[in-house]
Amino acid sequence: MFSMNYIVLDLEWNMGNRREELKVMPFEIVEIGAVKLDPERNETGRFSRLIRPRVYKRMHWANKSVFHLENSDFRDADDFEMVYSEFLAFCGDEPYIFCTWGDTDLTELQRNIFYFECLPISEGPLEYLDVQKLNGYNDGLPKNRISLEKAVEEHSIAENEGFHRAVNDAAYTAEILKQIDKKYEAYTSFNTYHVPADPDSEILRNYGNYVKYISRCFSGKAALLHNKKVKSLKCPVCGKNLNRTIPLFTTNTKHYYTMGECESHGSVKTKIRVKKEELQGLPYAVKTTRLITAAEEENLKQKYQKSISSKSE
Ligand SMILES: [Zn+2]
Repeated sequence: MFSMNYIVLDLEWNMGNRREELKVMPFEIVEIGAVKLDPERNETGRFSRLIRPRVYKRMHWANKSVFHLENSDFRDADDFEMVYSEFLAFCGDEPYIFCTWGDTDLTELQRNIFYFECLPISEGPLEYLDVQKLNGYNDGLPKNRISLEKAVEEHSIAENEGFHRAVNDAAYTAEILKQIDKKYEAYTSFNTYHVPADPDSEILRNYGNYVKYISRCFSGKAALLHNKKVKSLKCPVCGKNLNRTIPLFTTNTKHYYTMGECESHGSVKTKIRVKKEELQGLPYAVKTTRLITAAEEENLKQKYQKSISSKSE
């Protein structure tokens, strides 16, 4: 699907004890590992660097048991700023897309970039491939998220290198990516550490069977929920405005749902997740709209009934 390079990324990080923990950077990156693939998925380079910890200086016990690194291993390591700039040079000037196992690495990377006052990797939401998610799609189990170890086993990839060293995990992730049908690469993900700055940079993406919308920040939740684009209900296939068969309701004040009926395409469900932007804490919306089956329709109706009965209690 892509005519760009893949940067398959993996990070190892350290943390502090509860007293030391910084909210802007709960995890300090101590290793960056990456594998570069060309558009035909041939490996063209590897990157592996340790980073000298400066915030959480002692290796946390949980890390020692996982990746077997001691403080003495970092004696010759460079600072984050240095390794990050070398990493960007490794990524290169040609267009590329990040690929990670799961959805946490790009958040932690951007938290470290912010903390150490480096140039942001992206101005807005960062589009990437979540290989863990795509592996589930490829297995025909779209909600299945398995561990990297298990996936390596399932794909019969030789386990020559230990897990939980960044470049090894990146290499395993790259091997799995190579075995995933290219058609699933259309199902990109967005990391929203940086939320769209204004209406023009909002994300609206049609994936064929569902539509994803990521809004800018609003001054408050009421403003967000009154916004026309946030609350609209359209068919993901033909784009027609739909009459609602269930009004907008919430089960927990974070997730909102509504349902409508398209004459040509059937029942449509919209889910709005109200999220908080990391630095200012302002709300923004991640909204998905898709066609649903009769069983899912019944499920949503029950959810709605429950939400009104709990309100009147
Ligand atoms: Zn329609």
